[in-house]
Amino acid sequence: MKKPRVAFFDFASCEGCQLQVVNLEEDLLQVLEAVDVVCFREAMKEHSDDYDIAFVEGSITRRSDEARLKEIRKNAKVLVALGSCATLGGINCIKNFQELDYVRKFVYGEKASNYETYATRPPKAVVPVDFEIHGCPINRKEFTMVVKALLLGKKPEVPNYPVCVECKMAGNICVFELGMTCMGPVTRAGCAACCVTEGSICWGCRGLVDDPNVDSEREILATHGLSVNDILNKFRLYTGFSEVAK
Ligand code: SF4
Ligand code: SF4
Ligand code: SF4
Repeated sequence: MKKPRVAFFDFASCEGCQLQVVNLEEDLLQVLEAVDVVCFREAMKEHSDDYDIAFVEGSITRRSDEARLKEIRKNAKVLVALGSCATLGGINCIKNFQELDYVRKFVYGEKASNYETYATRPPKAVVPVDFEIHGCPINRKEFTMVVKALLLGKKPEVPNYPVCVECKMAGNICVFELGMTCMGPVTRAGCAACCVTEGSICWGCRGLVDDPNVDSEREILATHGLSVNDILNKFRLYTGFSEVAK
């Protein structure tokens, strides 16, 4: 039987999500047994435009990106957004809250006029996206789970409850009780609350759950000393493209 042909593409990103795929360790062999990887700039020289599944990392930050993304969409039967930059617009959306000319000059200095830019958006704002793998970076196990589901023709199961649920299951002390603040109450679970377990906070990298209780989250953050601007910045870190960050 012909194996599905898989291709990886990147737009504006740090390539950390593709690196997670390269670092799949023992799961990589399982994945490679099941699919033919025909394009993966980070891992191989070969390139083909004949593929079934396209994994797209990164956000769309230039108008000229759109034609390339549309071509990928045309070639792929299934398009999967890989990581926060691709599912949400992600951290690259921070620039949307600055003057774009200022941002361009800040990054490119005197050469700024040579570089095109526009407001950052996720691929789904340009073309239809079939599935999303959340996180910054993606979780390797979740990537393998999604690939398996796609190969079986099933819809991958993604949690639609907040990180707090997994955080409680992990037995963590809530960081609000330790004088810190956290986006866990409105953020989609699926990472086992790893950042809190490792002694940090949830930054919201997996994006918002469906119907997040944003008002309650704003209220808790304000009660714990954050200004209106601080609260907005919390929502803008990863979900700057969403309505709640406007
Ligand atoms: S989601 Fe995070 S790790 Fe993945 S490409 Fe974007 S910035 Fe890098
Ligand atoms: S630390 Fe964050 S994720 Fe964990 S329970 Fe508290 S608010 Fe929720
Ligand atoms: S705890 Fe929050 S910031 Fe950390 S991986 Fe999970 S969703 Fe992302």
